[in-house]
Formats: sequence, structure tokens, C-alpha cells
Amino acid sequence: MTEPTAVFEPDLLNACIACGYCLPTCPTYRLTGDEASSPRGRITLMRGIQNGDIDIDDPIAVEQSSQCLACRACEPVCPAGVQYGRLVEQWRGVAWKRRPVKMLATAAAVRRSWPVRLGAMVVPHARPHVGTGETNLMLGCFERLLYPKVSRSVCEVYPEISVDPSQGCCGALHAHNGELEVGEEMAQQLGDQLSGTIVSTAGGCAAHLASVIGRDRVKEFSEYAIEHPPTHPLTPIERHSRVARIAIQDSCHLRNGLGVADDIRSLVRMIGTLVELRTAGDCCGAAGSYSLLRPRDARRVFDEKREELAETDVDIIVVVNPGCYRQVKAEVARASLPIEVAHLAELVAEATRS
Ligand code: SF4
Ligand code: SF4
Repeated sequence: MTEPTAVFEPDLLNACIACGYCLPTCPTYRLTGDEASSPRGRITLMRGIQNGDIDIDDPIAVEQSSQCLACRACEPVCPAGVQYGRLVEQWRGVAWKRRPVKMLATAAAVRRSWPVRLGAMVVPHARPHVGTGETNLMLGCFERLLYPKVSRSVCEVYPEISVDPSQGCCGALHAHNGELEVGEEMAQQLGDQLSGTIVSTAGGCAAHLASVIGRDRVKEFSEYAIEHPPTHPLTPIERHSRVARIAIQDSCHLRNGLGVADDIRSLVRMIGTLVELRTAGDCCGAAGSYSLLRPRDARRVFDEKREELAETDVDIIVVVNPGCYRQVKAEVARASLPIEVAHLAELVAEATRS
């Protein structure tokens, strides 16, 4: 028996009534069938840690803190309103200290803004620009480096949005990877630097930023686009001599954390034919740095989606988060599926050009 460790906010931990409604929604439970790999099982482990029955470094507990995708699919179905995402961040904040997994995750993230600024000097993301209103575009760290066309597309559709390339990282990856305080500080700094409404094209970043600076200041791209219809009318885009058939890969934190899913679908209906996948809301396996830290598990999480995509007539799968962009693109290529992967902002920009 070890000394009790106050790792978790007691009210958050006590909220679970162990009903098990969350089990069928959990990707890791569906893969393993193991109670310990379910939200309820992990909460039982957390309670054991909190009351001292389980050591924070217990191998099973550490493995479960890492195997969890932190996708928060267990939250919307929970009748007790358990904030599981918050609990897992608090868990990793202690369990991953001094552990190689934390160092790896931190190396994969962008701790300070200088590497982002340096990279931004050579990557053609949206140009510095002072718009006409009190709205700023969040460039994201990985998105501006890996997918610079996304921010350029937003500016093409919405020239009134300002772009400040000196902005740093929002800290979402830090918060999800055992550095909750650092992640919250970084989000606050970003919120202080960018005034007014902040538009984000990264679902995970939008959810993290909103949790720190307030929901009212953050708009994910699809929300903004529905509230501010583009001045140039949207014309359905075409692929293979037909109106494009477009499926959606939801962003977990956007859907399960911020509740944004309908606006994405409304936009897709304006620019093509929506093909609703059974697995659209299921995690793709990207899950922040999960696909880098646990690539085999990430691939297994994608299995069901891969099978559905292989038997569905789809031209494009649309993403709303850079991690999902990378993961879906990699898995579609690995399976040699003839499906294009694109960010929603890129397709909306294309639809305004037709
Ligand atoms: S997390 Fe929610 S849904 Fe899952 S067992 Fe606990 S109370 Fe039930
Ligand atoms: S966050 Fe996702 S993987 Fe983790 S317990 Fe909840 S549903 Fe399962």
C-alpha cells in the first residue's frame, strides 16, 4: 500500500457511477474487450491511484494511461457528465513525469514559438495580414508547417481575418502529453496575443484553446463559415465528372469536446454530396502524438474505417484537424484507396473559385 496521491480533482473522479454506458463507444475497449482498457476500467485505476491502492508507476496503470487515445468518445454518452478528458490529462501530468514517453511526446511537440517562426519563414502559409475586423486566424504549429495551404485557403475565402505569423503554439499537445500546466500557459499567451475571436482550422487546438480562454472567443472553421457565409457563392466541386462524393473524418476533440459536427456536414452538403460514414465520429488513431508513440495501435484503430472506406463510393474524405490529415492520408495511401484527403477549408476555397 502506498501513500494516497492527490492526482485528480476529487469531484471529477467521484462523478463516475460505473454504469458502463461508455464501454461500447471506447475504441480501445472495442479492440481488446478488456475492462482495464475501457473508460470505466481506467477510472477504477485512477481511483486506486488516488486512494493509494495502486502506485502511480504501476506498469498496468502506466500502460493504460498511454493506451487511451484521449479521444473523449466516452464523454457525450456519459449520463453522469464525467469529464474524462480532463481526468486523463491530470493522470498523465503525474504518471508520465520522468518517463521516456513524455520526453518523446515533448520532443514531438513544439514547446516554444521560435521553431514555429523559423519554419514559417520557409513554408508558404497565409501571409501576415491585418484584416478589417476583430478576428484572428490561429495558424497552428504543425498545420502551418505541414499543411500551409489550409491557412491560405481560409484567407482566400475570408480576407477580413487577420494573420499574425509571430504567434506560437496553443499548447494542446503539451496538455495531452503530461504537461497540462505548460499547455494551459501557452494557450493563455496565445489568447492574450490574438485579440477578439480566434478562428481555428485544427479541431484539437480549438478545443484546448476554448477550455483555457473561453468558448466564446474560439470558432472552429466550420462554425465560422456557417455564421459568415462566404461572399462568393459556393459551387459544388466535381471529381470524376460528377459532383464530388465527400465523406467526413470528425476531429475527436472537436466533436466530443466542443460538440461541433453538424456545421461540418452543412458545409459539405453545400460543396458536394455528403456520404455519411458509420465510422465518421470514431477516432482515426492520430490522437495528438498517439500515432507517433504507438503506431501499431493507431493503425489498428483505423482498421474499421479502412474497411468501410474500401466498400464505399467516396471521392474525398474531408478532415478538420492536422493530425487527422496526416493519419488519414497515410492510411488511405497504405491501403491504396483511390480517395483524396483534404481539409474542409481547402475544399470550401475550391468551391468559391468555380
Ligand atoms: S464514465 Fe460515465 S458512462 Fe462510463 S461508467 Fe462512468 S458514469 Fe458510466
Ligand atoms: S478517451 Fe477514448 S480511448 Fe480513452 S477511455 Fe475514453 S473513449 Fe476510450
